[in-house]
Amino acid sequence: MNIELQCCALFILFTISIMFLREKKLDLMNRKLFQLAICACFACLIFDILSVILINLSVSRGFSTVITETVCKLYIMLLVLQGYLGYVYASTSMLPRKKTWAKAVRLICNLIFLGGEILMFVLPIGYTANGRIVYSYGPSTLVSYSMSAIYILSTIATTLAYKKQMPGRRFTAMLLWQGLWMLAALIQFFCPELLLVGFASSFGMVILYIQLENPSEYIDGTTGLFTTNALSVYVRDKYRFGKRFSMFTAKIHYLTNYVDYNMEQAAVMRTAKALVSLGPEPVFRIDDDTFCVVYDDKERMLERAANIKMQKDNVRDLPAKGTYLLIPDSTVLSGPDEFFRFLHTYLESDQEILTADEELVNKLREQNKTKELIEEALLNDRVEIFYQPFYNVRESRFNVAEALVRIRLENGEIVPPGAFIPVAEETGQIIPLGMSIFEKICSFLSKGEAQKYGLDQIEINVSAAQFDYENPAQFASLYIDKYGIDPRQINLEITETAAAKNHDIMLKNMTALIDRGITFSLDDFGTGRSNIDYFVNLPVKIIKFDYTFTRGFFDNEKIKPVLTGMVDILHKMDMSVVAEGIETEEQMKVMTEMGVEYIQGYYFSKPIPENEFLAFLIKNNK
Ligand code: C2E
Ligand code: CA
Ligand code: CA
Repeated sequence: MNIELQCCALFILFTISIMFLREKKLDLMNRKLFQLAICACFACLIFDILSVILINLSVSRGFSTVITETVCKLYIMLLVLQGYLGYVYASTSMLPRKKTWAKAVRLICNLIFLGGEILMFVLPIGYTANGRIVYSYGPSTLVSYSMSAIYILSTIATTLAYKKQMPGRRFTAMLLWQGLWMLAALIQFFCPELLLVGFASSFGMVILYIQLENPSEYIDGTTGLFTTNALSVYVRDKYRFGKRFSMFTAKIHYLTNYVDYNMEQAAVMRTAKALVSLGPEPVFRIDDDTFCVVYDDKERMLERAANIKMQKDNVRDLPAKGTYLLIPDSTVLSGPDEFFRFLHTYLESDQEILTADEELVNKLREQNKTKELIEEALLNDRVEIFYQPFYNVRESRFNVAEALVRIRLENGEIVPPGAFIPVAEETGQIIPLGMSIFEKICSFLSKGEAQKYGLDQIEINVSAAQFDYENPAQFASLYIDKYGIDPRQINLEITETAAAKNHDIMLKNMTALIDRGITFSLDDFGTGRSNIDYFVNLPVKIIKFDYTFTRGFFDNEKIKPVLTGMVDILHKMDMSVVAEGIETEEQMKVMTEMGVEYIQGYYFSKPIPENEFLAFLIKNNK
């Protein structure tokens, strides 16, 4: 009897079912559909075999026609069910959920399916057996052919239409699966003794399993927890089907750079175990030392999170602390994209507990707007440099200026740096932005005009992130060479906080630049901790007194002697001083008498665009 292929198919299906059932899985819509498809495939194969046996029995031994016809019909009905499930599998994760047209498509599809199944059951069917050639025919079979064709073609069409949104692997797997089916049906149509369809559908399941539903791909090898990829699919599924959820993440924050590998692994394993023991909810390891657990219920999440926070001993013998990010209600975030942006932004937070509430989410949205603003400004060349001249007290002229960046909006309005530099530093955009700033300033210097009217040097603000460990001083060297600038015309302003963050990298970069002739000054002096280390151990020539510090001189009796003494010390160390934020004639006079070398402030000029700056130099540097 012609049932060898079907038996092989059953065996294959059995094997992947065992593999699939054995592994730990996430509750995903696609996964449920895959399970259904496997069941349908099983049923279909069994009825396929049964129908071949019964047709043979019926033709050669006169077995009951009614039973044989019913089994044949059930077989083709199950075949169509498989085609239908294939289409549902392809479209559920692709077609939009809420659009009216997509709802209509879904409804029509279901109606066609139901109608087709009823038709197949009531229409007459015939069958024949002649040696190895065994098949059914008649109106019922015709309906099954057309329905299968409809579903295979719709699945292929959906796959092609949503190609862009699909990972490449999914695209090929879907096409392979459906193509295989179509091919098998065609072969079987022309060579009826080759009963290939059942075999092709179980082989299709193998393709789907290996390429798309293979759970081991979502499992972290070390801890056995789910991976970041798994979280991504899981969260997208939840948002897609409108399922509200809660989540908490726990991160092991190491307090030193060096942690023993074995101790680290042990802490990771302990944490993983503790999280798994909290309950049946899925636990993910989303980074070497970051874990999260997803809950359906907010109260349960909060209770469990409190529990894990008390288990401090997970990191007991490590120089580390735990930090926790709670998302009590997934609906505060608009969708999976915002969800992952939120995670990405706040996972690194040093705060022990951070909760995703309206306020924090709004902050994220603001930050994102700023990020887009910077992106757009870079793309459309709307980054502008303003210049603020310094008065050189000894030489009674303006020979230095600070370059201060601005973004010009489309409507001409100016955005000040305070509104975007901190975000650029957080998002890493400071790198391309810093490059653009540097290029503009080098381009300005290369024209040589300002130098004609007495400008000797431009001071440029740089952030800690711009100092690269691998390519020291790259951001500066590139444009100095490109525009052929004399490096002595450039002075870089760094801050104490920047120097404190990455002292070694900073020093390495500074040395490389100083070798080329660039000088440095220390900005914002007098704010925060003014550690004497910074100007003793960093190769800076100029100290800039922050305007809060210079203002203090006039507002606070106690600051007076500090400031005067400081100027004295710095002079003894052979350094120059810039007093920032000088707005009145009185302030200017006091600073001059104190022996400050440079004065910067609105008293002389605000930061102004390039052309106004040139006009200023022409007017004031006779
Ligand atoms: P900063 O380096 O301390 O720059 C001095 C700030 O004080 C400038 O603000 C300047 O306009 C303002 N200022 C100058 N004189 C006076 C005055 O007499 N009174 C008052 N009230 N303010 C005065 P701006 O341009 O808004 O820049 C703010 C900060 O943005 C800068 O502080 C600097 O930290 C950062 N920044 C500006 N341009 C760049 C840049 O190209 N790169 C980087 N990384 N940061 C920049
Ligand atoms: Ca500055
Ligand atoms: Ca400053």
